[in-house]
Amino acid sequence: MTTVAAYAAPRAKAPLERTTIERRPVGEFDILIDIKFAGICHSDIHQARDGWGEGIFPMVPGHEIAGIVAETGPGVTRFKVGDRVGVGCMVDSCGTCDACLMGREQHCAEGNTQTYNALDRNGEPTYGGYSTHLVVTEKFALSIPEGIALDEAAPLLCAGITTYSPLRRWGAGPGKKVAVVGLGGLGHMAVKIAHALGAEVTVLSQSLRKKDDGLKLGADHYYATGDPRTFEELAGTFDVILSTVSAPLDFGAYLALLRTEGTLVNVGAPEEPVSLNLFSLILGNRSIAGSAIGGIEETQEMLDFCAVHGLGAEIEVIGAGQVNEAYERVLASDVRYRFVIDTATI
Ligand SMILES: [Zn+2]
Ligand SMILES: [Zn+2]
Repeated sequence: MTTVAAYAAPRAKAPLERTTIERRPVGEFDILIDIKFAGICHSDIHQARDGWGEGIFPMVPGHEIAGIVAETGPGVTRFKVGDRVGVGCMVDSCGTCDACLMGREQHCAEGNTQTYNALDRNGEPTYGGYSTHLVVTEKFALSIPEGIALDEAAPLLCAGITTYSPLRRWGAGPGKKVAVVGLGGLGHMAVKIAHALGAEVTVLSQSLRKKDDGLKLGADHYYATGDPRTFEELAGTFDVILSTVSAPLDFGAYLALLRTEGTLVNVGAPEEPVSLNLFSLILGNRSIAGSAIGGIEETQEMLDFCAVHGLGAEIEVIGAGQVNEAYERVLASDVRYRFVIDTATI
């Protein structure tokens, strides 16, 4: 075991503070990563504050990790010391179930091992990226291409793949009209990626406050959902609507914005169940769907795609001592568009 520095929530709802944690020895197929940057995802805040219950404390959040390989186990073939690597929301899976064999490790029948706030396959707690080092099996490490700066790459490991996967699956591309609901950490990546895929992109945001940003990020149109005329004007417009918000939506109103056979895909979810008049699906053969991150192979495809198109996240780099303040600013939607911790400050 190696003792390394980390930022942790000592118990539910407590502010994060500097501490030390143990990382496992580098095994045959493991790599040791010298973490350089860790993004702050909205779900870090939920979990550190035990919003979903059953949190494992002390908790070191962080599943948007970018760094450099510092050591490799004897069986490692994909990486060498000095390589630029990333780790996202999961660090292991069974490797043998149908989902794993199809490259959809996020849907592993035994459950994937989450990067933090989980127990690994030996029953040891996992600790995330708000730390100086991480040991991970090479299968769950991604190669970060030279074309993307490490700090701008970190958020791609969650926000990037969470939006790339559904955009690809539901065919965002030339001739398709895509709406992105919400322009936050996820939404801003959805706009960049959908634009790079060649789709006509519309942002649906509560107000026009971030309109200039949205257009700069690649949106063709920008509408305020607080204005009821938006829903009249855009009725029957979109092939795909990607909702990145966790506030409860008026699903009937959004489904009416879809073309025949269009799909409303959710990557954000309200905590409470929603009710839906199914005629809003039946009329127009419309669908409502969900999507969870992406498999490892698809995550690599996303990173390669982002490198080719010069895409990284829009970030504000902070020191570890600013994490608690950053959490408050995320909750107040006061970040454009992702905080990234410089782990050298831990
Ligand atoms: Zn995340
Ligand atoms: Zn599996």
